[in-house]
Amino acid sequence: MSDAFEAVIGLEIHAQLLTATKIFCGCPTAFGAPPNANACPVCVGLPGALPVLNRKAVDLAVTAAVALGCEVHERSVFARKNYFYPDLPKGYQISQYEQPLATGGGLALPRPRQGFGEAGSEGEKFVRLTRIHMEEDAGKSLHEGFPDSDRKTYLDYNRSGVPLIEIVTEPDMRSAAEAAAFFETLRQILVWLRVNDGNMDEGSLRCDANVSVRRKGDSRLGTKAEVKNVNSFRYLEKAIDYEIGRHIDVLEHGGRIVQETRLFDAAQGKTYSMRSKEEAHDYRYFPEPDLPPLLVTAARRQAIAQALPELPDERRRRFIEQYALPAYDAALLTQTRGVADYFEETARQSGNAKAASNWVMGEVLRAMKERAIEIDAVPVAPPALAGLIAIVEKGTISSTVAKDVFAKMYESGRAAGDIVAGEGLAQISDSSSLEPIVRRVVSAHGDIVAEIRAGKDRKFQFLVGQVMKETRGKGDPKLVTDLMRAAIHS
Ligand SMILES: [Zn+2]
Repeated sequence: MSDAFEAVIGLEIHAQLLTATKIFCGCPTAFGAPPNANACPVCVGLPGALPVLNRKAVDLAVTAAVALGCEVHERSVFARKNYFYPDLPKGYQISQYEQPLATGGGLALPRPRQGFGEAGSEGEKFVRLTRIHMEEDAGKSLHEGFPDSDRKTYLDYNRSGVPLIEIVTEPDMRSAAEAAAFFETLRQILVWLRVNDGNMDEGSLRCDANVSVRRKGDSRLGTKAEVKNVNSFRYLEKAIDYEIGRHIDVLEHGGRIVQETRLFDAAQGKTYSMRSKEEAHDYRYFPEPDLPPLLVTAARRQAIAQALPELPDERRRRFIEQYALPAYDAALLTQTRGVADYFEETARQSGNAKAASNWVMGEVLRAMKERAIEIDAVPVAPPALAGLIAIVEKGTISSTVAKDVFAKMYESGRAAGDIVAGEGLAQISDSSSLEPIVRRVVSAHGDIVAEIRAGKDRKFQFLVGQVMKETRGKGDPKLVTDLMRAAIHS
């Protein structure tokens, strides 16, 4: 970015609440049903149908608001946001407007990983929230044959009436990277709270960005453009960077920014205009007459606050303190609540937190990544992994063999001890079995032995490796090393 300018970014995030049914009717929210299988008179807006608010949706919205430090209002009001679009058959969306569920709050961004954040150089960045309100989602239009004359539009109302919260930030971010970091951190928390499934491909988490640019030192905000419906962290960063560049370019050439809504074209890496301010809707909001004001009592709010799980940041800090783990480990282990639980259970059962951490960060996360599965689908449960850690600690098997044992546990579901005994994998740690192999290797590599005796120790590990190879990795490495030294220097 040109040094003369500063970007000002605010985000609006729509998150689907993880309820079984829609916000105002009993239709399922399940993704992937045949078109219009999950629709009823309420969610397609037939005359006379009345909405009934989903209690669970309110609990989840309050959970998110409390976790993000917002003030949850005892009384909030649903309103009609009027506009006409084929995917909105009622002609209005039920949303909250003047009196939202919650206001205030915010989120601290993690320190940038490398090169920044050294003590005293750059502190934590805090992004304030303006509000969190509840609303219903609209349906979906599917177009075919555009732009030919033989074009068709299909309408699927399965999403119509799916419960959402909209989280609106203050314009506190100053770079695309900060905006992406905010979205990523927010996603982690919402998924952690089990308020949202974090699935951006299926549209259950979407982000709009308001971007403007001003000359440094200017306190007034520049004219903003809104980039709609970005559904990945990388695209969000690219879309905002593109917008910042476009704004600066216009301003530097003496032009004026037009307030408008834009869309991001991922293939081109560019944004393009969707509609200008002149075409913007006048939503003619008014209170929804079919719903009473939403009342959240202090008791209900407190009960939700008390049931809140330990949040990722708190847990990361506790892992460092309680288990003496490096910050790197703690950060990786708290990416999801499931992984954090898995690690902690393994640490407890094995009594060896660092070993548990190494296993989870290594083999467990690798297996999850390779198979694209979540932690609850990993067939090696914490007690089984703790069993493997105990066998390694006792010195029964080497860490190399342990990785193979883990793979076999994963495939067969058998316990580590059974695999080690059944396949004769136990480490060879008696000298009488290893000595003949060491002698054989020494006599087969007389030239190397001579070099080592002459003081060139470089190839010593090669000889140890030959012994390990002959024992198929089962030789106790420390004992093999000792025996090899003795054999060469005797
Ligand atoms: Zn319905």
